[in-house]
Amino acid sequence: MGRTTSAETKQGDSFTIGPTAIDALKKWPEMRQRNDEITFNPKICYCKITGERITEPMELTELMPKDSGMKRVYRHSRPKFHKMLLEQLNKVGLSVEYGKEVADYFEDVGSNRAGVVLKDGSKHEADLIVAADGVRGASWSLIAGRPVSAKSSGDAIFRVAYPIAIALKDPVIAERFPLLEDGRPLAELWVGTDEEMSFAIQHPDTGTAEESWGHRVHPDEVLKYTATVEGWPEVANRVIKATPPDLLVDWKLMWRDPQPTWTSPGGRVVQLGDAGHTFLPSSGNGATQAIEDAVSLAACISMARSNEDIPDATRVHNLLRFERVSFLQAFGIKNRAKHSSGTNSGGDAKRNVVHFGKWMVEHDPEEYALRNYQQALECLRSGLPFKNSNTPPGVEYRPWTIDGLLEAQEKGEPTVLDGDWD
Ligand SMILES: Cc1cc2nc3c(=O)[nH]c(=O)nc-3n(C[C@H](O)[C@H](O)[C@H](O)COP(=O)(O)OP(=O)(O)OC[C@H]3O[C@@H](n4cnc5c(N)ncnc54)[C@H](O)[C@@H]3O)c2cc1C
Repeated sequence: MGRTTSAETKQGDSFTIGPTAIDALKKWPEMRQRNDEITFNPKICYCKITGERITEPMELTELMPKDSGMKRVYRHSRPKFHKMLLEQLNKVGLSVEYGKEVADYFEDVGSNRAGVVLKDGSKHEADLIVAADGVRGASWSLIAGRPVSAKSSGDAIFRVAYPIAIALKDPVIAERFPLLEDGRPLAELWVGTDEEMSFAIQHPDTGTAEESWGHRVHPDEVLKYTATVEGWPEVANRVIKATPPDLLVDWKLMWRDPQPTWTSPGGRVVQLGDAGHTFLPSSGNGATQAIEDAVSLAACISMARSNEDIPDATRVHNLLRFERVSFLQAFGIKNRAKHSSGTNSGGDAKRNVVHFGKWMVEHDPEEYALRNYQQALECLRSGLPFKNSNTPPGVEYRPWTIDGLLEAQEKGEPTVLDGDWD
């Protein structure tokens, strides 16, 4: 069920879906092929805020571990990725109902059922409910016994993608953002494909941003912000001015302290994706982890022998996923600091390039869940600790909070981020 009123999503910029999620498509060769058709493969270079390049154009694979052997990293247009997933659902006969807003979640342990109450008052029940309703999800009252609101990170992000032809009408833009010699686009952290002009500009949230694709703002709002940035180049303002009206979104970046429990007391409602764990864009991982969650949950459910075993399956899934996800949330907070200090300073630019560790990109959530299911279940039953191996090797997980992490980072004190993350 979805809150939006139609299947067609035209809005949205682009994102990187990590290899750990893309690998899952191998089970659906047609979707895998479609995925290859809709993705783009830019090079990337880091720039100062003035637009001056401070690294050479490089392959996105250069951000990955050296010996990963990864041939390419997939960048996707969000609307196209969304459409691909919907086409696959249609193919296997699963329908999505739109305009159905979930107001509340419930479960009845006695009858082994759970359900949702929609805004129109209607109730829908099932053996298992997956709460995948994003950052502002309505499942916390059931899961934690109280609302656990996400709070503002203090930042927001202007985000848009529009047809490149519109931007290229301006000769200054056309000259500044040419395709590379081999026809490939170059992402300068104001990202471009050969079909779309796209930018994402992080800025302090003055309280007017919202976490919603419906929160459109006029390009003049962005220009008001860029006017405050020293050295901001005119050509970038031209890209902003070329943005068609009614497309640009001012997106509020929300976060919530890691919450180790994603399952309801009876185990029949389980949170998935941003509903259970908020991600900053600087982790480059929120959507990837949502897909890893989906694969892991499906693998755990496949281990359930009957309806009675479903709560075990959701709890095992939670145990196998929480620490990995929590480390990656912290990674986003670390990179946020890099982004803010980052590409403006110029001097030691390479220090601010974000690198992904092997444990992040070489993980098969299905294989991991199937291999560890029994042992994790025994640990849950006996109360003995379970040791995850899908986290930074040799680094012990320590619970953290956003405020605690930021404070420790500022003071240079040890944090969950210490250790060899590569
Ligand atoms: C600027 C930016 C860049 C990013 N870049 C990357 C990247 O490069 N790589 C990456 O992996 N991640 C990236 N992310 C993170 C990623 O976009 C999110 O983590 C991901 O979209 C989470 O997916 P989700 O399905 O859990 O939630 P969402 O995408 O938020 O989907 C939730 C869905 O639930 C619906 N819904 C909400 N409430 C209700 C309700 N009450 N009833 C019914 N339906 C409801 C919503 O309409 C929506 O369709 C980025 C995020 C931002 C903001």
